[in-house]
Formats: sequence, C-alpha cells, structure tokens
Amino acid sequence: MFALKRYTEDLVNLLFPALCNGCGKLLYHGEQYICSHCLFDLPLTDFHLYEDNPVAKQFWGRLPLYAATAMLYFKKGTKVQTLMHSLKYKNQTEVGVKLGQLMGTKLKTNKVYEDIDLIIPVPLHQKKLKLRGYNQSEYIAKGLAQELDLPMDVRSLYRNKATESQTKKARYHRYENMQEVFGVTEISELAGKHILLVDDVITTGATLEACGNVLLAQGIRKLSIAALAFAEQ
Ligand SMILES: [Zn+2]
Repeated sequence: MFALKRYTEDLVNLLFPALCNGCGKLLYHGEQYICSHCLFDLPLTDFHLYEDNPVAKQFWGRLPLYAATAMLYFKKGTKVQTLMHSLKYKNQTEVGVKLGQLMGTKLKTNKVYEDIDLIIPVPLHQKKLKLRGYNQSEYIAKGLAQELDLPMDVRSLYRNKATESQTKKARYHRYENMQEVFGVTEISELAGKHILLVDDVITTGATLEACGNVLLAQGIRKLSIAALAFAEQ
C-alpha cells in the first residue's frame, strides 16, 4: 500500500508539480508549500523575545496589551509579500497554517505566551468571506493553535459591516469606523480568559485595536496579539 501511495504521489507531482509559494521553484520531496531556501530566508523580527518591541509600542496608549508580536517584516516586493498574497488571494491556505505553526514554535520560547487560554482570528465580513471563500487569518490561527495545543474560537467574534477602503482616511476616523464593525455573539464565553488575537499583517493597527476593545469589554483577563507580519509605518 505504501509503495502504491508513494507511486501515486510521485505521479501527481509529476503531472502537477508543487511549487514554492515564495519563489515559485519546484518543491523537493519532503518540502511542502514553502521551500527550505525561502523558509531559511524569512525576515524574522524576533519581536516575541522583547517586551517593548515595535508592535507593542504601536499600541501604547491605544490598547492595553499583555504581549504583542509579529513574526516577519513585511515589505513590498519581497517574498513575504508573495507568501501573503498566496495565502490571501490564491487559496494557498496551508501557507497560513505552516507559518502559523512556525510562529507557534517561536512563541513557545517566551513564558509570556504560556498562559493563553484561547486563540481568536480577526474575522472577515460575511460578504468578503463568501467572495474569497475563507478567512486567511483563521488559517494562521489554526497553525498557531496546533503548535501551542490551544483551542481556536472562530464563532464568538464577528464583523458586522464591510469597511470601504480606508487607507486615505485619517487614523482617528478609521478608528471611529472600525468601532462599529466588530461584535461578540451571545454564545461567547470569553470572560476571565487570556486571549491571543491573530491577524495576517499589522499596518496601522486599527483593525486589531477595534477587535481588541470589543474583547476587553467582555471582561477578559488578558489580551495579547500575534500577527504573521508587520509593516512599519
Ligand atoms: Zn521558495
């Protein structure tokens, strides 16, 4: 059976060769979704090791966070952008799981992430979810949850209104808009928990700020955030 399975896999790979989502080159046997070279080359921030890192600082005075991190630096025209694009628009959800798992191995090395109770991905609006078919942040959260052996909750937090492109608006107005956008369902049992909120890329932080405030209003014990990538403003 194993020989047959291996033979079938090899045949499928021959007909539909699996390519790296970072560089587009053929994957070798044993590599999945991202090649070893791209994984080795990832621009790691190591923010999880430092309390006062740039992500944490971005939320000072905006959101009371216990811990905050992002695993990678996000810059335009880099492999990180290519990977995020694959995850977000090309159905390569496993890229999110794989990178989420990798982030999990990093978080495990710092005690501040030890007492997290629940992982919640930033939700997508229903309309967008139908259009894209999936929420990319949910797959990052899935990888994290697997590696940290924690439950993931995708039902408590929801987004009730799609936001139009807000990139040109001032931060204040963006924040005001986001306030109305997130809510918590009746089934949620969040009080007293340390929640890790997960997003794909942090830019202005407005989305996480809005989500975080909604969660804090539920009487949670601690709020931490982890994103796959950080785009310096
Ligand atoms: Zn590659």
